[in-house]
Amino acid sequence: MNSEKQLLNQIKNPRIRAIAETVCSRKPVEPAALAEMLATDDILDLAAVAGFICRRLHGNRVFYGVNMNLNYTNMCELRCPLCAFSCDPGDEKGYVLSLDEIEYRVRAAAADGIDEVHIVGGLNPDLGMDYYEQMIRRIKAVKPDIVVVAFTAVEYDYFARQSGLPLKEVFERLIAAGVDALPGGGAEIFAPHVRKVIAPKKIPGDRWLEVMRTAHQLGLKTNATILYNHRETIADIVDHLVRIRALQDVTGGFKTFVPLAFHGRNTRIGAVKDASTGFDDIRLYCSARIFLHNVPHLKALWMYVGEKTAQVLLNFGVDDLSATYRNEKVVHAAGAETPDDGSEARLRELIENAGRIPVRTTALYESAGEGQGK
Ligand code: SF4
Repeated sequence: MNSEKQLLNQIKNPRIRAIAETVCSRKPVEPAALAEMLATDDILDLAAVAGFICRRLHGNRVFYGVNMNLNYTNMCELRCPLCAFSCDPGDEKGYVLSLDEIEYRVRAAAADGIDEVHIVGGLNPDLGMDYYEQMIRRIKAVKPDIVVVAFTAVEYDYFARQSGLPLKEVFERLIAAGVDALPGGGAEIFAPHVRKVIAPKKIPGDRWLEVMRTAHQLGLKTNATILYNHRETIADIVDHLVRIRALQDVTGGFKTFVPLAFHGRNTRIGAVKDASTGFDDIRLYCSARIFLHNVPHLKALWMYVGEKTAQVLLNFGVDDLSATYRNEKVVHAAGAETPDDGSEARLRELIENAGRIPVRTTALYESAGEGQGK
């Protein structure tokens, strides 16, 4: 293919050219090559390969969503050191959204035309399956075709332990209530020596993967995340991506990979740097796009990396700029300086200004709403 020739001709770094040859022959890139990519300064060579893969998968399209965020409680038993959002059960800053309040918020957002609700919260011992099922049912009653992306693998594991139900039954009940897909949070970094510092009580990486495997087996599509810019090494990032790619080979259930740059303000661990650098972000996004050949989408959450970096990342393998969100709480508690509420017009502007075609969609990547493909 001519474009493959063009790709190989433009790459100066011989090691990255070897990786590009692997990509052109549609073979998986080796973990050792991933480690090299994560350490290189040749980010434009990396960009050429990541951009090639992105165009091969999605052409000139860039996806975005029109959604709302629902953080139903901030009280959490785990109190992970990485978390600026949570407080202890019973704390005066603690809250639980009532089912009426949730319905009210969803009704208001639905009137504004959202396609999707994104739901995550703390592990609150005062809540139970009845609350979660009713929450989803009442949301679906407001707008039956709304896409419900609900609860991380960490929450599903908690629901099962707290209720005494098998994990599969928890999933089946919440699917029956209306859950359509899962977000990818809680993965953090799988490496136990880092996990025990940043989130010592959170389920281990093996369990996170097991919960996702169960979700995939029941037909739910999910995201997968990595949290970077805290204590991780390149070897830890490689381990994380190897394990996600291996599960994807078995289930095919991951739709999207979502790197999350750690924001350390108000948390009980310091980040290695206050914020990731542009090179850090670019190396990680490009490397993930190249290594995770079997995961179709790579998403940049503009509220984590900032609008400008998110837009630039469209040239570094990203095909999804995430969504509008309304009232995002988790990352803003940790000091994100972006607005906590984006507009569809702004997301389309960022995408079009980068010379790409905005496509409004949901976590299921079925076209949604007005303006698709314009
Ligand atoms: S990161 Fe999640 S599980 Fe950990 S304390 Fe915060 S809300 Fe709880």
